Amino acid sequence: MNYRINPKNGDKLSALGFGCMRFSKDEKEVEKQIIFAIENGVNYFDTAYIYPKSEAILGRVLAKGYRDRVKIATKLPPYLVKKYEDLDKIFSAELERLQTDHIDYYFLHMLTDVTIWTRLVTIGILKWIEAKKQTGQIINIGFSYHGGRDEFKKLVDAYDWEFCMIQYNFLDENNQAGKEGLKYAAAKGLAVMIMEPLRGGKLVTNLPKEVYKIWDNAYVKRSPAEWAFRWIWNHLEVTVVLSGMNSQAMVEENIKVASQAEANAFTDADFELFNKVTQILSEKIKVPCTGCNYCMPCPMGVDIPTCFSCYNDREIEGKTAAIGKYIMQTSIKSQTSNASLCSKCGKCESHCPQNIKIRDELTNVTKNMEGLYYKPTRFLIKKFMKL
Ligand code: SF4
Ligand code: SF4
Repeated sequence: MNYRINPKNGDKLSALGFGCMRFSKDEKEVEKQIIFAIENGVNYFDTAYIYPKSEAILGRVLAKGYRDRVKIATKLPPYLVKKYEDLDKIFSAELERLQTDHIDYYFLHMLTDVTIWTRLVTIGILKWIEAKKQTGQIINIGFSYHGGRDEFKKLVDAYDWEFCMIQYNFLDENNQAGKEGLKYAAAKGLAVMIMEPLRGGKLVTNLPKEVYKIWDNAYVKRSPAEWAFRWIWNHLEVTVVLSGMNSQAMVEENIKVASQAEANAFTDADFELFNKVTQILSEKIKVPCTGCNYCMPCPMGVDIPTCFSCYNDREIEGKTAAIGKYIMQTSIKSQTSNASLCSKCGKCESHCPQNIKIRDELTNVTKNMEGLYYKPTRFLIKKFMKL
């Protein structure tokens, strides 16, 4: 196994992290996979409060003598924290499920913007974190994030975090926090964990024929998943790449690749292959937005690059997944930033290096992503989350 060092504290973390969200239904199999992973060097396990069975299963397995060999990462859902006492209530439940007295890496789960962080600060989270760190119940604190690059940078700067987690893969090099966000966080000394390295499997299954052909004819035989993982590990700024593993074959393959893939190992030939694949996948993309952010900010609060990114995902990931993502990223936060807020002022268009007709494209986004069920769904989720 290759290891990468957390720049904040010197922790030696396995380049491959075990994502526990998609455990298989057979607990005996899960136990086998977890133990196999630990025996083969994986020392970072990621779960969350909102995956209660996952925390409990991981806790049961680690209690069989493995707890001290691994770092546990789990998460606090900010939307369930209404008052100070909720922090302890949620955290205590997690310690109990995980059968441990401390969490090594504690995330604020899907921290969507600075406003939500400020709300938590008002509730008293700073005092709480400090107390937990003093007692050794929380070792490191960080946040996971889906959203635009500018807000990500603001969040990085909002607190002295030890780590963060972003979505990153070869098709998202310029989406969400993107490469720029990765470099920004790393330059601030944060360990950067990566989620969605295969974009929920969309970079490895049901690919266009031309893409399979490129991988099949490459100078070295590798599966699409191996190529996608290697692309991420090629970044020196990446600390741990999570993979939601749910079969023994997947655990074995990922460990094998993680043991071989080094940072800065790609050659021009490798990059050339990725250019070709990215080009083919990008052709399926409706709006050629690169996520540069030059058009931002919008006076009406539209998150233009995020609207286009989710809209583009419709072709690659399917309608339901893309609309779900669109709601999460533009609407489940204190200030909504969806396409239909656009007042057509046109201020953004002269700044776009891609010459995108932003107003027309946002109309298309509204038509295709904000259908009949959009507003009621958004209303219910926001009500539930008290946003
Ligand atoms: S045209 Fe729409 S998206 Fe562009 S700046 Fe004006 S309100 Fe914002
Ligand atoms: S300026 Fe153009 S390419 Fe850049 S984020 Fe805005 S729409 Fe996308």
